[in-house]
Amino acid sequence: MRPFTYQRPDGAEAAVAAVRDRPGAVYLGGGTNLVDLMRLGVAAPEALVDVSRLDGVGIQETSGGGLLIGGAVRNGDLAAHPLVRRRQPMLAEAVLSGASGQIRNMATVAGNLLQRTRCSYFQDVTKPCNKREPGTGCPARDGDHRNLAILGHTEECVATHPSDLAVALTALTAVVHVEGPGGPRELPMPGLHRLPGHAPDRDTRLEPGELITAVEVPALPFAARSRYRKVRDRASFSFAVLSAAVALDIETGAEGDAEGDTVRDCRVAFGAVAHAPWRAWEAERVLRGAPATMETFTEAARAELEQARPLPRNAFKVPLARNLLVRMLADLAGTATPETR
Ligand SMILES: Cc1cc2nc3c(=O)[nH]c(=O)nc-3n(C[C@H](O)[C@H](O)[C@H](O)COP(=O)(O)OP(=O)(O)OC[C@H]3O[C@@H](n4cnc5c(N)ncnc54)[C@H](O)[C@@H]3O)c2cc1C
Ligand code: SF4
Repeated sequence: MRPFTYQRPDGAEAAVAAVRDRPGAVYLGGGTNLVDLMRLGVAAPEALVDVSRLDGVGIQETSGGGLLIGGAVRNGDLAAHPLVRRRQPMLAEAVLSGASGQIRNMATVAGNLLQRTRCSYFQDVTKPCNKREPGTGCPARDGDHRNLAILGHTEECVATHPSDLAVALTALTAVVHVEGPGGPRELPMPGLHRLPGHAPDRDTRLEPGELITAVEVPALPFAARSRYRKVRDRASFSFAVLSAAVALDIETGAEGDAEGDTVRDCRVAFGAVAHAPWRAWEAERVLRGAPATMETFTEAARAELEQARPLPRNAFKVPLARNLLVRMLADLAGTATPETR
């Protein structure tokens, strides 16, 4: 590990100034991803500016009935918060599906959103990788890509974004509040993370030195009926092979008969399928206003996954994503049968 300096400013303004005035300085949250990457030689910052205690916001209700969550809030505290559990269960489930209790108690909300890909070539400095060193190539495309992207990838990079929390926040159309050298601004989700295009070294649309101060989750009453489900290789300490966040608003049929139910509104996002959390706009379009039946759910999943371009060793993700979404929709609509569970 290369030598680095450490400082802990006492406010967001001082933190932004510390990074702005020093090229090679980066923010430090809980350090659970950044310090690992420093040990591996993937990251070599000259200065760490610790923002893990700048928790001026905490978790509070907004006047519109939404939630404002500080960037330095610990993942464990977010998952345990009663308002989050009641109003957006998918958020709490997403956080609880990731890492271990100890890591969740260190990791911060902002750090979770900005963690780097788990692509094994990215983490191995003896291998070429366009994300680490632009222009060196992407060995994953012809190599180990089992867990990598099936949507929105390019020749340059097929990495996936590893954050579970980001998937739930993308489904909820959260807004990220940022302070930076150019002043404050807001970035909607989806929109914080980017697809690789020709610049896979850039994970997000943040400008250099921008600090995430908070994430705002707008009021969405029907998100009380929401779920996050994650498929992984083992039950503990595993990143997603595939995941989905789904919220469903059902209008009950006139007779109170499930067969007359329709989908009034919905939110769907997938994780571990692309370089960014994937909002399933096409599935949502099919679902809105349609009968809440297995036929509709199957058509919604089919329409979304039609865009998939799997690689040879991750083609299994396409039917997996289809089945996961149909099953989650059926569960939330109360139309699941033993066959769909
Ligand atoms: C064994 C293990 C298993 C894991 N499993 C999962 C999993 O299943 N799902 C999952 O989602 N995650 C998982 N994680 C990842 C873990 O959630 C992340 O490491 C963690 O969320 C990163 O948060 P942090 O606060 O420690 O960030 P740090 O490591 O401190 O920082 C990460 C990045 O964010 C930047 N940063 C931090 N705070 C700010 C800020 N306020 N503004 C701007 N930039 C900032 C840093 O500069 C750095 O680039 C796992 C981690 C480990 C070690
Ligand atoms: S998929 Fe992206 S991160 Fe992985 S080797 Fe290719 S360029 Fe690097």
